[in-house]
Amino acid sequence: MTKLERLALRLGRELPCLELRRNEPMSRHTTFRVGGPAALMALPASEEELLHAAQAALEADVEPLCVGNGSNLLADDAGVDAFVLKTVPKVSRVAEKGNALTAGAGLTLAQLAVEAANRGLTGLEFAHGIPGSVGGGMVMNAGAYGGELCQVVRQVRAMDCEGQVRELSGEECAFSYRHSRFSEGGWLILSATVELQPGDTAAIRARMAELMAKRKEKQPLEYPSAGSTFKRPEGYFAAALIDQCGLKGLRVGGAQVSEKHAGFVINTGNATCLDILTLMDQIRERVFRETGVELEPEVKYVK
Ligand SMILES: Cc1cc2nc3c(=O)[nH]c(=O)nc-3n(C[C@H](O)[C@H](O)[C@H](O)COP(=O)(O)OP(=O)(O)OC[C@H]3O[C@@H](n4cnc5c(N)ncnc54)[C@H](O)[C@@H]3O)c2cc1C
Repeated sequence: MTKLERLALRLGRELPCLELRRNEPMSRHTTFRVGGPAALMALPASEEELLHAAQAALEADVEPLCVGNGSNLLADDAGVDAFVLKTVPKVSRVAEKGNALTAGAGLTLAQLAVEAANRGLTGLEFAHGIPGSVGGGMVMNAGAYGGELCQVVRQVRAMDCEGQVRELSGEECAFSYRHSRFSEGGWLILSATVELQPGDTAAIRARMAELMAKRKEKQPLEYPSAGSTFKRPEGYFAAALIDQCGLKGLRVGGAQVSEKHAGFVINTGNATCLDILTLMDQIRERVFRETGVELEPEVKYVK
């Protein structure tokens, strides 16, 4: 029996209500809509289940692959030979203390921004259109329109690679551009607390609507993608470099450099992970050859 099979048996015994799926297509859990089956996937319905499942995995010597909304993930066509722990919005209580909100890892950033707006708290408007979860957002230090999560995060509660639950201050999270101490794996983020400022609900909602309209105008939201494919190289914009090299519209199979926003690789309908990876290689190669700038993927490839 494999480690994963043993883990599945144990989870079934100890957590009879836990939703466990075998050979679940990752294409259903990534915004790129590509990816073969995950050997074992758990969708815990509460933080207690999430933590129990993660600790059981550690004891079984299985490193879980945490997945939030899958909006920064590219999963291999052959699938992911791993135990995928998916945080779902159900793991999503929001607690309020003064101007601080604490949200479970599975809550979407959009929902958290709406919760903040409803309470007249400003500071999260920038995150409203980022289609990730609170957990994935912390890992990536997600940001847009001049805002970044690190500007508002006061504390993150997470399980470390030894199974200990720790509370880390914003500083201890070591946030930098699209990176944090959680980026290399080994952590399971359970919840995060953001510190906001009192503001006017109508003005906050208006700003969120304005930023969403900008996204719809500039980004190919009508196609599956993972947002910006590459990080912003220091001193440049990835989209401008890709455009400058004449790569808008470049295709490999069903993957294409968006005509609307050169920073996005989109799935035009039937792209495979291999199409996307091949296109990304071609983009990096052309941009390096023509501009001398090395593009680093922002999207995380998993197999
Ligand atoms: C249309 C579109 C627009 C986008 N716009 C932006 C933007 O403006 N700014 C921006 O920064 N990003 C943007 N993104 C990218 C993406 O939404 C962010 O990177 C987001 O933070 C990813 O969150 P997620 O929950 O989807 O994480 P996932 O894609 O599920 O995972 C990302 C990483 O976090 C890890 N992870 C997820 N949850 C946990 C957890 N609970 N504990 C430990 N590790 C975890 C995963 O293992 C993986 O390494 C965009 C994506 C799309 C599709």
